[in-house]
Amino acid sequence: MSDRIKMRPDTITTHAGRDPQRFDGVVNTPVFRASTVLFPDVESYEARDGDDYKIMRYGIYGTPTTFALEEAVAQLEGGHAAVALPSGLAAIVAALAAFAKSGAHILITDSVYHPTRNFCDQRLRGMGVEIEYYDPLIGAGIARLIRPNTTAVFCEAPGSHTFEMQDIPAIAAAAHAKGVAVLADTTWGTPYFFRAFEHGVDISIHAGTKYISGHSDVMMGIIVTNEQYWLQLRRAVADYGYCVSPDDCYLALRGLRTIGVRMRHQQQSALQIARWLQRRPEVKRVLYPALEDDPGYALWKRDFTGAASLFGVVLNSTSPRAVAALIDALTLFGIGSSWGGFESLAIPADPGKHRTATQWNPGGPLLRLHIGLEHPDDLIADLERGLEQMRLAG
Ligand SMILES: *Cc1c(COP(=O)(O)O)cnc(C)c1O
Repeated sequence: MSDRIKMRPDTITTHAGRDPQRFDGVVNTPVFRASTVLFPDVESYEARDGDDYKIMRYGIYGTPTTFALEEAVAQLEGGHAAVALPSGLAAIVAALAAFAKSGAHILITDSVYHPTRNFCDQRLRGMGVEIEYYDPLIGAGIARLIRPNTTAVFCEAPGSHTFEMQDIPAIAAAAHAKGVAVLADTTWGTPYFFRAFEHGVDISIHAGTKYISGHSDVMMGIIVTNEQYWLQLRRAVADYGYCVSPDDCYLALRGLRTIGVRMRHQQQSALQIARWLQRRPEVKRVLYPALEDDPGYALWKRDFTGAASLFGVVLNSTSPRAVAALIDALTLFGIGSSWGGFESLAIPADPGKHRTATQWNPGGPLLRLHIGLEHPDDLIADLERGLEQMRLAG
């Protein structure tokens, strides 16, 4: 295993999570459908609970297909172990629930993915958990907010829709000094471009729905943890009864095999398109930490090895009708939720309206773009048509 840890990411995505000699030489770990798992005798049946969730014991705890995906993602990110869940939101819910008890205090970044905030406000608060939102730019200042009953700090960098970066190592150092766990939604960074554990994250949460699966046909969540928190997290997932279909695990692992080529290509196209947009008179600002003049650039450059192809575009137009005219005129960009697939997407966004600890106003309507694998020049031509329609719509 130690020689594996030194492998580069592209080698890990090619080789991790498969063992052809175990499966008659088949290159990919096959799909194992299972509920019941049979044991040879009573002794081994009664011993089944003694492991750390890594052997076959019952379908809900995973099959060789599930384990293959989990092992590959954990190895790529440099974590101790991983567990797959039925959606990214389910992974967030289970991870937060592992730190939630009546009287606990949990700190959540004000830039958080909105359904995470909704779960905290609608569910955790009702169970007697104190939820406090903090300024995403707080850095080491998080120390001032940590109390004796604080159990977790939740980060997300860059923030959903606002693309604000966070100084995760500074936040983690302050949290760890007081024995508090650091959870992070690392969907944008992915295990390929952000090695969360090297930056102080204890529990890294991915919407596997996005770049890991990569083809807009799977719902998936993956929690990766360090050794310290593994059993606490794995038990929480088991207690809630979450499990994932082996077909979906197979598809997610197939997606993971090509995450490197897809993400590098999509990043390059996204940068080209973002720079083109920056020069357009209709555009006030592009929110993308991979751009040198973005306020989050220094942190991104320090902590990430690449960028997702998802960014925000603040427009000079003030009319929502004109922004809709832009999006409706696009022929290559689909209008829909999610991202990280092979295809481009465009949606309007208004993340400022959910903030409670801080204010966020980009100074114009916000468009969120996901850049797919199309040729970037074709996407630019499409956007040019869209901007023209926005101008005509006033
Ligand atoms: C999409 C998304 C999620 C949730 O993933 P689902 O699989 O759609 O539930 C969580 N966090 C971020 C940042 C996301 O973009």
